[in-house]
Amino acid sequence: MQMNITQKQLNLKHLGYYKKKIDGIWGSGSIDATRRFQRDYGLAQDGIFGAKTEAKSIEVWKDIQAKLNNYGYGLAVDGLVGTNTINAINDFQRKNGLVVDAMVGKNTMAKLNTSVSYKCKYFEDKEFTCKCGCGTNKQKNGIKKIADDIRGHFGKPAYINSGTRCSKHNKNVGGVSNSQHLYGNAIDIEIPGVIGKTLLAYCNSIVASGRARYTYLISGSNAVHIDTGNLE
Ligand SMILES: [Zn+2]
Ligand SMILES: [Zn+2]
Repeated sequence: MQMNITQKQLNLKHLGYYKKKIDGIWGSGSIDATRRFQRDYGLAQDGIFGAKTEAKSIEVWKDIQAKLNNYGYGLAVDGLVGTNTINAINDFQRKNGLVVDAMVGKNTMAKLNTSVSYKCKYFEDKEFTCKCGCGTNKQKNGIKKIADDIRGHFGKPAYINSGTRCSKHNKNVGGVSNSQHLYGNAIDIEIPGVIGKTLLAYCNSIVASGRARYTYLISGSNAVHIDTGNLE
């Protein structure tokens, strides 16, 4: 990943570091902003936006985007500030009584860190609970939102064949030892009347958008596995 100068300025600006015009020209304003960012995130303060600084910038913004998605924004979690991310920050600030400036400063970050459980429009929380009857439910917001999006897209009742799994149940159903179902990051979803290939095509588009990590058609069925991995 190699961000262009405009992107570097945008990523710095919306954390409150870069105050000048987004002009794609690397000057003293960009260097100063980079130094302050590096200082706050424990990097060498050389003012050079190199690989390490870029990786940190992406990490910080991926975290913010994932947190915004907990509130239902559906952003690509790519660590790159663009129009959608800026609009989501403004909207989040407006709805939470914060200063609407598209900057993720202390107050906005604090509000984003208050944990919320995403309330599905189409599913009850218990639909994601481990199917063995143990009651385990660690289902994460990101994948719950994706379940809603899939259900909304096809406009038909959908079934969560597997959401969270306890380790015992995961073993019993032949899940891999590091299955994302263990962490509440995955669903196996099926929609009666929708063939697996069609369902998979839509899930592939969610992966392509950066909101999920991985999806596949479960062999011999019309059900699809989709997971967010460690995106959140
Ligand atoms: Zn269980
Ligand atoms: Zn699965």
